[in-house]
Amino acid sequence: MPNKIYNKHVLISIDSSTLLAGARQVEKKLVETLKKEKLSESIKVIETGSLGLSDQGVVLVVYPEGVHYVHVTEKDVEEIVRKHLKEGEIVDRLLLEREPEVSTVSYTEDEFELEKQARIVLKNCGIINPEDIDEYIALEGYSALGRVLADMKPQDVIGEMKKSELRGRGGAGFPLWFKWNAVKNEPETPKYIVCNADEGEPGTFKDRLILEGDPHRIIEAMIIAGYVTGSHHGYIYIRGEYELSINRMERAISQAYKYNLLGENIFESDFSFDLQVKKGAGSYVCGEETALLESLEGKRATPRHKPPFPTEKGLWWKPTIINNVETLANVPDIILNGGNWFRGYGTEQSAGTKVYTILGHLTYPGLIEVEMGTTLRDIIYKYGGGISTGRQFKAALIGGAAGAFLDETALDIRLSYEDLGEYDAVLGSGAILVMDESACMIDILGSTMRFFQHESCGQCSPCRVGYQQLTLYVDKIAQGKGEMKDLDDMLELASFMNGSAICALGQSAYLSVSSILRYFRKEFEEHITDKKCKAGICSMSENTEKIAMRG
Ligand code: SF4
Repeated sequence: MPNKIYNKHVLISIDSSTLLAGARQVEKKLVETLKKEKLSESIKVIETGSLGLSDQGVVLVVYPEGVHYVHVTEKDVEEIVRKHLKEGEIVDRLLLEREPEVSTVSYTEDEFELEKQARIVLKNCGIINPEDIDEYIALEGYSALGRVLADMKPQDVIGEMKKSELRGRGGAGFPLWFKWNAVKNEPETPKYIVCNADEGEPGTFKDRLILEGDPHRIIEAMIIAGYVTGSHHGYIYIRGEYELSINRMERAISQAYKYNLLGENIFESDFSFDLQVKKGAGSYVCGEETALLESLEGKRATPRHKPPFPTEKGLWWKPTIINNVETLANVPDIILNGGNWFRGYGTEQSAGTKVYTILGHLTYPGLIEVEMGTTLRDIIYKYGGGISTGRQFKAALIGGAAGAFLDETALDIRLSYEDLGEYDAVLGSGAILVMDESACMIDILGSTMRFFQHESCGQCSPCRVGYQQLTLYVDKIAQGKGEMKDLDDMLELASFMNGSAICALGQSAYLSVSSILRYFRKEFEEHITDKKCKAGICSMSENTEKIAMRG
C-alpha cells in the first residue's frame, strides 16, 4: 500500500521532561481537535524525542513551516489548530523566542556552521519517532550495519575507528578502537558488549535523551561492536529511574528482532547477536564500569581493583567491551562517512563533537551538541543564551559533580581533552553547571561533598571516611568556625584520597577541592576571617540552622 501523503506534520516532543509538563494531555487534545475539525486525514501527529529545549515545556513543531511552539498547554491546542493548521496564521504568542539551533552536520561542506549546533549523535533526536524502526531506517538507519556485515572485515572497522580518533565520552576519554581491538584479540570466549547507560551524575541527562530520542542508533552500534570483537551477546545497563528510556529501548530491541536485525544470521550473514536491557540498581557507583559489571552479575555494585581491565576480565570474568551511550552513538555515522570525515571535526587531540547538558543560571538550559573545541564562552553566551538573572557570571562546574570548578578567567578555554587538561579539568559526564554571583562556593562544595559521601559504596576507607571529613570541614567554614589551616588540610586529604581510593568516585574529591580552592580561595578565606558570606547563603547563624536541617 502506498504511503499516505499528509499536508502537514505536527511533531510533539515526548521525553521525560515534557511528560512532566503534560505532553501526553496536549497530544491527546491535539488528536481529538484535529478529528473534530476534520483535519486528521491531512495532518499527522508524530511523537519524537527531545529537541534539547529542556526549559520550554511541551514543544510542538509544525512542518513544512518548521514553526516551533513552546510551553504549549491543552488550552492552547484549539487556537493552534484553528488559527495555524486551518487558516495558516502563526500563533505568535507561543513561538520559540530564538531561532532553533538544530541542524545536522552537512556532509558536503568542509566546516560546521558555528551558529548552529553540529549534530551527529543527536541528528535524529526530535526528528524521528523513536518508537518506529521504519523512521530510523528511512534516515539510513542500519545501513552502517549492512555495510559492515556485507563488505567489511572486523579489522577494517577497527581501522576506521582508529582513523576517526573517537574517544570515550563517558569520562575517561579512552580511544574506542583500542578497547575494541583488545577484546577482538582476546582468545577467551564468550565475549560481551555492554552499553553503560547508568547516568547518575547530578545535572547530567544527555544519555537519557539520546536513548529516548534514538534508541536504534545504540542497538546498531552494539551489533557492530559484537561483529568486530566476536561477541554474540550484549547488555544495555540503563539507570533504573529512566523509565521512558527503558521502555523505548525494549520496544526498539523487539522491533529489531522482528526485522532480523538482532538474533540469528543477521542480514542473512553468519553473524548472530542477542541484546537485552538490564535495569540499573539505583546507585551512583553503578556507573563505574567494574561496579556495573558486578551489578550485572547480580551482586552488590562495588568497584573492582584494576587491573585486570574489563577488556581482559570483564563480565563473568570474560573479555568485555563497556562503552558509554554517547560514544556508541557516533559509530554508525563513522562507518557511513569514514573515519577521516569524523577526524575532520574537533581539535588536534579531540575529534568530532560533544553533547552537553547545560544548566544553572542560563537563559536556555538544555541539551546541545557542538564541535569539540567550542569555547566555554560560546556555550554559555551563544548556545545557553547568557546568564538568565542579569547578574555577572561567577563560576562553571565542568564535567558533572565530579568535575572541576572554573572562574571567568577560563571563559575562553576550548572544551577539548587537551585544553581542559591544561586547567586540570575534564570533560567528564558532559554536564556544565553555570553559576552567577549569587552562588556561594562554600555552599556548592558542601553539596558536592555531601552527595559523594552519600554515594560512596564504603568499600575503601579513603573515600568512606574522606568525604565525611571533607563535609565536616566545609560545614565548619560555613558556620563561621573555620581556620585558615583547614584549607590546606582539605587539600592534603583530597590529594590522599586521589592517590589511595579504589575508584574515581573517591579519587575525584581532589579535582573538586583543588579547583575550587585555586579559583575561589579568597571566598573561603573571607568566610574564615570575616565570618561573612557575601552571597548571603551561609550568613552564619541562618546557615547553622540550615546545616542542622541537612543533618
Ligand atoms: Fe567505593 Fe568510594 Fe572506594 Fe570507589 S572510592 S570503591 S565508591 S568507597
